[in-house]
Amino acid sequence: MILVLMGAPGAGKGTQADMLVEKEGFVKVSTGDALRRQIQLGTEIGKKASGIMAAGELVPDHILLEILKAELEDKADKVVLLDGYPRNLTQAQTLQEVSRTKAVRGVIHIDVDSEELVERLSGRRTCSNCGASYHVVYGPPKSEGVCDRCGGAIVQRPDDQEDKVKVRLQVYEENTKPVLDFYKNRGLYHHIDGSGSVEEVNARIRLAIKEILP
Ligand code: AMP
Repeated sequence: MILVLMGAPGAGKGTQADMLVEKEGFVKVSTGDALRRQIQLGTEIGKKASGIMAAGELVPDHILLEILKAELEDKADKVVLLDGYPRNLTQAQTLQEVSRTKAVRGVIHIDVDSEELVERLSGRRTCSNCGASYHVVYGPPKSEGVCDRCGGAIVQRPDDQEDKVKVRLQVYEENTKPVLDFYKNRGLYHHIDGSGSVEEVNARIRLAIKEILP
């Protein structure tokens, strides 16, 4: 079954998914991470996606469909936390079709106001090896530039630069926000206040998941 994590870039979907994987044994599927792996491997998909991602725009739906199918394969018996998909209404429809047997059971919207999102994203730094997330002010690594988790090099994602952050937030407003209504109309939507510490937000999400999963 699938739990969709929704929210603007910087809302904390990836961080929260990682915490839930650790505590609950769920499986995380992040389309952004999957695309970044394709870029690192130098595949055709990676080549097509890299410029689009660096600009903060959406990668075409047909590429995401390939990624989604590959990522969901062999996970039918797991609770999948889906991070970064769907990002528009077409993708939301596609997910309903693709996931029939792993039906979407609930949608958790981590809601953070836009000023805070800009602050979080522009200060965000990411491990180039394992993807762990840091913040220059609110959550720096113990040793500057080195990942606490794996020792990898910490970098700024190209799409976390200020001008790209603006594009991504606009893309979210225009393309992804309508997806929230899609799920409200289907009785799957759960609102989560995304302000406060990661632990506070995690506790709110776990309460929502208790309602969703038997
Ligand atoms: P994320 O790591 O989720 O912030 O995603 C980084 C970037 O990957 C996005 O800004 C898009 O360029 C691309 N991407 C990830 N997921 C999708 C998706 N579902 N549809 C289109 N593009 C996506």
